[in-house]
Amino acid sequence: WNHEGFEWSSKLRAILKSTFQISEFRPYQLSPINITLAKKDCILIMPTGGGKSLCFQLPALIEDGFTLVISPMISLMEDQIMHLNKLGVKAEMISSETNLKASNGIFQGMVESKSSLKLLYVAPERLAKSKKFMSKLQKAHELGRLSRIAIDEVHCCSTWGHDFRPDYQFLSVLKDMFPEVPILGLTATATTKVIIDVQKMLSIPGCMVIKASFNRPNLYYEVRIKPTAQKECIDELEYLLKNTFKNQSGIIYTTSIKDCEDLRKELRARNLQVSGYHARLEPEIRSKVHQKWLTGEYQAVVATIAFGLGIDKPNVRFVIHHCLSKSMENFYQESGRAGRDGQRAHCILYYRLQDVFKLSTMVFSTQTGLENLYSIVKYCLEPSRCRRSIIASHFDEVWDYSDCDKMCDNCKKSRQSTDMDITPHCLTILKIIETAINEDTKLTAQMILDIWFGKNNKIKCKVATPKFPREKAENILATLLIKGILKEDFHFTPYSTISYMKAGPKHASVLHRGEKVTMPIKGISSESTSSQNDK
Ligand code: ADP
Repeated sequence: WNHEGFEWSSKLRAILKSTFQISEFRPYQLSPINITLAKKDCILIMPTGGGKSLCFQLPALIEDGFTLVISPMISLMEDQIMHLNKLGVKAEMISSETNLKASNGIFQGMVESKSSLKLLYVAPERLAKSKKFMSKLQKAHELGRLSRIAIDEVHCCSTWGHDFRPDYQFLSVLKDMFPEVPILGLTATATTKVIIDVQKMLSIPGCMVIKASFNRPNLYYEVRIKPTAQKECIDELEYLLKNTFKNQSGIIYTTSIKDCEDLRKELRARNLQVSGYHARLEPEIRSKVHQKWLTGEYQAVVATIAFGLGIDKPNVRFVIHHCLSKSMENFYQESGRAGRDGQRAHCILYYRLQDVFKLSTMVFSTQTGLENLYSIVKYCLEPSRCRRSIIASHFDEVWDYSDCDKMCDNCKKSRQSTDMDITPHCLTILKIIETAINEDTKLTAQMILDIWFGKNNKIKCKVATPKFPREKAENILATLLIKGILKEDFHFTPYSTISYMKAGPKHASVLHRGEKVTMPIKGISSESTSSQNDK
């Protein structure tokens, strides 16, 4: 599909230059454009900033009639419409704020054959909640005026995605109502599971899927162990902001509004030019913070994931995750806000076991929530594999290189690793849990580690103290969790949810069938199983 031999090809090029003032297509833009102009359904997967909008905006200008664009956010729609109007293209939007007169004008444009309306933007709920709009759309369709349907952020259809939006479920009616109108779905989320789910929901199974590469060669990925003491954490951040990233612009992501506020205060107290951004701030304050960050008055924004869609600053030099993300997808999107200008930028993720439970108690209500969280934990635990190759394989992308030319912490260091036999440790942890059950007690991961290290006598269980640091014991426990040998057991209190540990579905094979458990560790192992003293 990536060629220029179609009947529309010369017109396409002409409009690309004259209207959009763009001289060349970027990679992966021409194929979806040709596919949709050939009236076939298509899903385009391309990282943010890759140029997805052009893939429906340009085809909209080739034919008579208009393209219906479904988009989740009013501000995104407004930006695009403003841009299109500047280029002399008639694009409009109907939202809950559109007054009667304006919407009547737009309705007229939908059905009139002489109308110059080319793109009509609506939010997904319009399809379900506005009967009037739907009847106009049907009328437009009967008159042959609905030339295609573009669905932006199409992953919002899927509960597997990181951003499921119930309103997107309404889109399931489109293929039924307008069977021959091509659908073009666009997203930056690329897992096969999500895409298959989206295809099913939209009734376009097996449609063509065009996928651009997700590699961001200019981003340096690094995982750091998060100090347990908050003061040490702040010291490290202060050092980064005052030295490593001096005079550079960035984002520091946190999980909760409380963490966001605390961190902002602590960094302010150290004379750093930062501010906070989260959903509970007034829109005017949020917009002010965003503005001051754009102009460089603030070096960094300490933010929750509310600081996301629509953030488009080219020279973000660092994104620091003070706590891990909810999923690989979230991490990719959030860290991907760095280095849009193509210059080198740094993405640091601070990992510590306790943060896993901070998040798991937030996302556990769905099976996918936990699975997605464990995928990023696995990324953090990886001692030697190229971080890029982990990201690529998560997006089902074939990564052709064994490393990324020293653009991640693991490739920068020696990439040698060994599989360490952690079976004895696994048995110790299972024994602690078993004893607790017999004593009618529940244990959190931290309690298990305390008991293991002899710092808690809550239960009567004799185990030898490990000869390695607590960090490593944490990694062993996390490994058992992602392997399903341990399992989280959530309990509700009036104020919070607590994650206790119990034996997982895979524990029996280790306990009863003598299966070995291993964990990759950096370098050549100096410990053999026999030196482990807690059998
Ligand atoms: P996405 O929706 O994939 O995040 P956009 O559609 O917003 O990305 O495009 C990002 C930027 O790239 C926009 O400023 C757009 O004008 C520009 N752009 C898109 N295609 C091209 C191209 N072929 N050549 C140059 N710039 C382009």
